[in-house]
Order: sequence, then C-alpha cells, then structure tokens
Amino acid sequence: MPDVIVIGGGVIGLSIAWELAGKGLSVRVLEQGAFGREASWAGAGMLPPGNLANAKTAEARLRGAAHALWPDWSNELTSRTGIDNGFIRCGGIELRMDDAGGPQSSYQLELAALKSEGVTIETEDVSEVRRRFPEISAEISSAYYLPDFHQVRNPRHLQALLAGCAMRGVELQAGCPVQQIQMKGERIQAVQTGSDTHQGAEYVFAGGTWTGQLLSQLGLTVQIEPIKGQIVLLRAEPLPVRSVIQVGRQYLVPRADGRMLVGSTEERSGFDKRNTAGAVGELINFAQRLVPALKRATFEKCWAGLRPFSTRGRPYLGRLPQFANATIAAGHYRYGLQQSSITAVLIRQVLLNQPVLLPDELNLADSVTE
Ligand SMILES: Cc1cc2nc3c(=O)[nH]c(=O)nc-3n(C[C@H](O)[C@H](O)[C@H](O)COP(=O)(O)OP(=O)(O)OC[C@H]3O[C@@H](n4cnc5c(N)ncnc54)[C@H](O)[C@@H]3O)c2cc1C
Repeated sequence: MPDVIVIGGGVIGLSIAWELAGKGLSVRVLEQGAFGREASWAGAGMLPPGNLANAKTAEARLRGAAHALWPDWSNELTSRTGIDNGFIRCGGIELRMDDAGGPQSSYQLELAALKSEGVTIETEDVSEVRRRFPEISAEISSAYYLPDFHQVRNPRHLQALLAGCAMRGVELQAGCPVQQIQMKGERIQAVQTGSDTHQGAEYVFAGGTWTGQLLSQLGLTVQIEPIKGQIVLLRAEPLPVRSVIQVGRQYLVPRADGRMLVGSTEERSGFDKRNTAGAVGELINFAQRLVPALKRATFEKCWAGLRPFSTRGRPYLGRLPQFANATIAAGHYRYGLQQSSITAVLIRQVLLNQPVLLPDELNLADSVTE
C-alpha cells in the first residue's frame, strides 16, 4: 500500500508526487485520461515575478513564494532527468494601448501593487519601452518592464515531471478515473477506478476543474468551475520580440524556437474545449495590432484548455477538515503552472507535519462545506 495516492495527473498532482517521492514517500498517481493533457498542457507557461516578503494577498504570497522556488525547482528537475523544460528568464512587458491613465485603472492598480511588493520594475517610461522593443506598435500609451519574468514550456515541463516521478519510483497509472471513494468513519479507506481498488495511507485530490465533482460524492461543496482559455500558435522567424507581452488578460509568449503563443480568452462554456472562429480571429487580430510584424507569421495551430477557477478566489490547499487522511490541491485558475512549485512544497509540509511556509493559505475550515 503506497503512503500517498494522488488523484489527478496534471502539473499539480505530478509536482506533488515528485516532491513527496523526493522525501522518500511511496506515491501512486491515478489519472483518468493521459498524464498532463488538460489545463496543464494547454497553459502558456508564464511565470510572473513576486516577492513574498512584502506580499499582501493570497495570490501575491503564492506568486512570491513560487517565484523564489522556481529556479532551483526547475534546475533539479532538469538536471535529474536530462529534459530541458524551457525555463528561462525572458522578461515581461505589461502595457496598454488605450489606457486613460487614471490612478484607478487596472493597469495603474497592478503597477502600484507590484511596486508595494518590491518587485523589480526596470522602466515604466513608455518611450524607453518603445526604444527597446521597436517592433511593438507605436499605439502603446503606457508600459513597464519586469526583468524577472520567467517562462516554462508546459509540455516539456510535464514530460520532465513524468520522467522525474518515474525515476523516483512513483507508480503512474493513466486511464484510471477515480469514480468512487470508500469511507470508514472519518477516514478514506480506498478509491475505486472501474473494477480496481486502490488503498493508501493518505489521499491527495488534485483533479483540477473536476475536483469538485469528485468530492461531491462525500457531500462536500468545493466550488471549482471550468473557464475555457483558447490559444493560437504562430511561427514567426525571426522573432520580433523575445519578452512576454501582456495587455490586460491578453498576451504574447515568444518561444526560443521561433513560435509565438497568442492568448487567451476567459469563457464559461462548461467542459467544452473546442476552439471558436470568433476567438481565434480576435486573438490573431490582437497579435497583429500589437506587433505588426506578426502579419507575416504563419499559423501553426490552436487549442483550448479548462482553467480550474475557484470561486473563493484562491486555490483550495490543505487538509480537508472533515477527514483524517484527505488533502486537496486544486483550483489554481490562471496561475497553476506558476504556483505548482509552492503547492507541492506546502502539501509535502502538511503531509509530513513539517512547519508550513504559508499557514494562512492552508486553512480550509470555512471554505469546504458539508
Ligand atoms: C489557456 C490557458 C493558459 C494558461 N496560462 C497559464 C500561465 O501562463 N501560467 C500559469 O501559471 N498558469 C496558466 N494557466 C493555468 C494552469 O494551466 C492551470 O492552473 C493548471 O494547469 C492547473 O493544473 P491542475 O493539475 O490542477 O489541472 P489539470 O491540468 O486540469 O489536471 C487535472 C488532472 O486531473 C485529472 N482528473 C480529474 N478528475 C479525475 C478523477 N476522478 N480521476 C483521475 N484523474 C482525474 C484530469 O484528467 C487532469 O489530467 C493557463 C490555463 C489555460 C487553460
């Protein structure tokens, strides 16, 4: 019987398995489909900077702690598996094309929050940004540059996590949908996948946007909804810009091999992952307007994924207070790639009864109701 059964093989479940197995625990991961093919594969891999020391919100604390962890986290995974996950410090430009400039605009509020966190902002002079990035449209009205913005290539990172987990002896079982949870008193006794029964000492629920559905059979209300995000992939050689560019919720993410990701949408359409002509057209227009040289880019493909949106405004992390041996790590919405490192560390601290880095983020007493 493994020490821990992890339910869900996205970036969250696999990162937890990698971390726990690294501390000598035996781990089995049950994945209903193929490993790492849902939101974690679809995401853009942006890892924005943060600073835990001055962070005031849950999002900022998780971002700050994750930012500090990522270089070593990535380095250990890459050096142990030999798989390059594409983690680089690429820098990020946040800009507006028609910002009224008022102190209450979302742009100004985000800039002020980053300043109060003490995140390094190299310039907030729009003419300096225009000079450094001449391929960006002259229409921009405001801009600042974050030198410590990182990115990772999700599919490669997932491949590295899978290889790393296998090297550490994690049992990886794909095509295993957990359908039933068997209880004995306040303990989970087993989970059932088809005709197979899996018993572990501890259970970690990391099923992304499906987690609420699964836990509802225990009478728990965990409010996580799917929010569709569509992405278009262009090929642009030479790359007109090498830093991530964000304009509110839309962005360009250049990859080192000449590809350019264009994202994204936020749509409530249930579990439907199809691309729509309207959204793809809008993303391509956005890209061409922002960087006119992208008119010459070629279209490679498009896809969509389901972000696990937690209606409480932050992920569900920590022990489920109703049970003796159940932990949850789900609902990371737009930030799950970035927060995967800190999530894995926090869940390891919980399961091994170690001092917890962010205790406030692990209190679920009022959030998971019966
Ligand atoms: C378009 C888009 C862009 C994004 N960009 C970024 C970004 O730039 N930076 C960032 O940090 N984040 C980004 N995200 C968000 C990030 O991708 C998610 O927050 C993250 O992938 C969530 O990981 P997860 O492991 O919880 O979920 P998932 O990747 O969805 O994995 C959950 C897994 O659990 C499995 N599962 C569910 N139920 C069961 C069951 N009953 N039994 C067995 N298995 C089960 C599923 O099959 C799935 O594989 C983006 C997301 C999208 C869609």
